[in-house]
Amino acid sequence: MKIIKIILKASAICIALFAVAGFLYYFKYVKPFKEKMAETMLVNFDMNLMVIHGGGGNSGILLLDSMVLVIDSKMDEAAIELHKTAKKIAEGKPIYLVNTHYHPDHVGGNYLFEGNTIIAGGNYSEMLWKQESGLNQLPTVWVKDSLIIETSTEKISIVNLPFAAHTESDLVVYLHNKRVLFTGDLVLNKQIPMLMGAAKPSAYLTAFDYLRNRFNLSTIVPGHGNIGSNKVFIDFKQYFLDMQEAKNNADQKDELIAKYDSWTQLPIFMSPQATIRKF
Ligand SMILES: [Zn+2]
Repeated sequence: MKIIKIILKASAICIALFAVAGFLYYFKYVKPFKEKMAETMLVNFDMNLMVIHGGGGNSGILLLDSMVLVIDSKMDEAAIELHKTAKKIAEGKPIYLVNTHYHPDHVGGNYLFEGNTIIAGGNYSEMLWKQESGLNQLPTVWVKDSLIIETSTEKISIVNLPFAAHTESDLVVYLHNKRVLFTGDLVLNKQIPMLMGAAKPSAYLTAFDYLRNRFNLSTIVPGHGNIGSNKVFIDFKQYFLDMQEAKNNADQKDELIAKYDSWTQLPIFMSPQATIRKF
């Protein structure tokens, strides 16, 4: 009986310590991260393309002659604002929504687009989508390979990556005339990636080469962080190369990790150490 009492007491202490650690972690790291993530910033790329940073994943609203294309639906208040803006720009034209992948910060506003065409990657099952997105708003079109939309002013390629990198079915959207690529979370600008579930660091490296060979890139709209030139792509690739090197070269590890101190990150889950562990 005495030993059971000791075990119970030790368990209670462990649970209490975990609860305190979780509480401190949330207020020190997660809360400021979420507050920063909720901020939005609008960039008018040109007369027809608006990029809305933050409020979840970055989004685009592209005005075409016969439709409006929205890329990623954000979350919470920002999702409602995005939907309102898209409707205003559309002036009655049909709105098509593309989801680059199933994470809630990119699909949290899907419910607002109920009744519209919603396009997503074709390697997901409906069950996986519901499980990962936390939503019932399923896409209506699942792209297995690619989908081309051609209008009088723009040609758009919506391409499903042929292998799992950030998730099982990552979609990118390329605007041929503007040479703009929406990468979803395959590319981030000065932010450490969160590598959960199917995410594979080595596949990110393959994805970078695949995208750069396939498209003539000029502007990158990353999943998070500011829109930028090819440098965004190059810097993010270098991050993975550095973490790969850090895994294999203990002497260089601390120095390689320190290179990314200024990037947005969350200890343990969204950190260079987490990337190194996944390699
Ligand atoms: Zn994601």
